[in-house]
Amino acid sequence: MLELEGVSARYGASPALFDVSLRVGEGEVVALAGRNGMGKTTTIRAILGLVERSGTIRFAGEAIAQASPHRIARRGIGLVPEGRQVFPTLTVRENLIATARPGAWNLDRVFALFPRLAERERQPARTLSGGEQQMLAIGRALLTNPRLLILDEATEGLAPLVRAEIWSVLGRLKAEGLSILVVDKDVSALASLADRFVVLQKGRVVWVGDGGSLLADAGLLHGMLGV
Ligand code: ATP
Repeated sequence: MLELEGVSARYGASPALFDVSLRVGEGEVVALAGRNGMGKTTTIRAILGLVERSGTIRFAGEAIAQASPHRIARRGIGLVPEGRQVFPTLTVRENLIATARPGAWNLDRVFALFPRLAERERQPARTLSGGEQQMLAIGRALLTNPRLLILDEATEGLAPLVRAEIWSVLGRLKAEGLSILVVDKDVSALASLADRFVVLQKGRVVWVGDGGSLLADAGLLHGMLGV
């Protein structure tokens, strides 16, 4: 579904990613891990064309490294950005439909997935709790009917019950066959969801493997993830 080969990225004169290769197969969940500032968000920005980058990026068989962010999104990548970035003055419903595209995901399905959004349909997004805003950001991304969902910090700063709800929803989306690339600090929650971990350190991929091997390696967990 998604393949990066030798991708480098820079912010002006400062390089931030070096020769990153990774793949997310169809229906796979891949976790992008690493301490703060190691390049997770930059990798996501590189995929979406939001940062200057080089190398090969293929999505659903087509090269997208030269395409504009708008076109890349339209090809079927849905982003749940860090910090949610919902439109604060628009209602829940307006946020959901603002970027919606036709497909299997519609408002009813999103409301069934997150009943709390249905209850707050007419409220401005700024009146929602952090957890509800994250549900809204996920619902908004699903309504673009993506083939790949990317989540940057899926559960950061959320209460334990809400986090559990988000993980359970991601499990359901995986069961339905959606491909997912996810960043989060909760390694054990990620381990039960992800088929593979890609660990970044200082902008380079330093480890790739499954959650079981990662959790069993205390040195790696401490050294690369600070757990
Ligand atoms: P975090 O979990 O803190 O978001 P991250 O792994 O997502 O960390 P990035 O945000 O990708 O890390 O940052 C990678 C590197 O790029 C860091 O050294 C950071 O300082 C740098 N960087 C990020 N954004 C910018 C920017 N807009 N301009 C210049 N440098 C940046």
